[in-house]
Amino acid sequence: MARDAWKHDPRQALRAGADFDLATFDRAGTPGWGGDRDAGEAFTVHRGEELSELQERLYAEGRSGGSRSVLLVLQGLDTAGKGGIVRHVMGMVDPQGVALASFGVPTAEERTHHYLWRIERRLPPPGRIGVFDRSHYEDVLVVRVDNLVPEAVWRPRYEEINTWERKLIEAGTKVVKVALMVSHAEQGARLMGRLDRPDKHWKFSMGDLATRAKWDDFQDAYADVFRYTSTEEAPWYVIPADKKWYARLAVTEILTRTMAELGLDWPQATFDVDEARRALQATMR
Ligand code: ADP
Repeated sequence: MARDAWKHDPRQALRAGADFDLATFDRAGTPGWGGDRDAGEAFTVHRGEELSELQERLYAEGRSGGSRSVLLVLQGLDTAGKGGIVRHVMGMVDPQGVALASFGVPTAEERTHHYLWRIERRLPPPGRIGVFDRSHYEDVLVVRVDNLVPEAVWRPRYEEINTWERKLIEAGTKVVKVALMVSHAEQGARLMGRLDRPDKHWKFSMGDLATRAKWDDFQDAYADVFRYTSTEEAPWYVIPADKKWYARLAVTEILTRTMAELGLDWPQATFDVDEARRALQATMR
């Protein structure tokens, strides 16, 4: 049986509170975890089984008229490992229960609408775990760094997002916001790794280098996201992402603990179980 080496709930250690300082944040750290990589990988699998059951309970609730859902918001720069979280963490649960949405450069149609329009259309239905691979936060990240709209437009968005998320939460969606933060050196190594492998060339674009050149601006923009939108109802969990095994372990733990607190009971049968058993028995040959 996998050993639980969490020294404490990682949601405490990883939550971006008022004193959070991105500039000094150790991106190669493993906060809260008292074991090594092997132990971490084993425990991820163990927790994944719990996560899978919780997901099934949520799905069952949704099928029985419940309105609750979960939304995992994933943010991080290129190579931070968002795709790995989708594959390795969400890959541990039934794909039927997951609603994945990726947000890239807005389409011509999306650009004619408010920035939250395309986000609202991809919110998870009741009973699902929605996963946003990038999100509305791009509208205060890349949009800010690349000056795609004036500051007078993006600045009020922090408050607007907080208000929007609050309404979403009140309507029954548990919002879990995770930012994967890699170091500059690790991002460089991962990009070089893509160039070194022909089977990874498709993942590379020259635009990744243009984005990397704006590293400091992106760090400032992320720092403000954590400063202004890590709310009581929907805090940011900032995950050191240089060690992929830790990032996956931590996100699995955060999601599992959060869902365990939802009090997801199996729905009561809406039929007479004894009668159903008798009726079934009568069909046996
Ligand atoms: P990824 O790089 O995550 O594999 P894509 O290449 O499909 O995915 O697109 C992501 C790109 O879309 C990123 O460069 C991101 O900054 C950009 N993007 C996402 N949302 C917006 C937005 N609202 N405005 C402008 N660019 C955006």
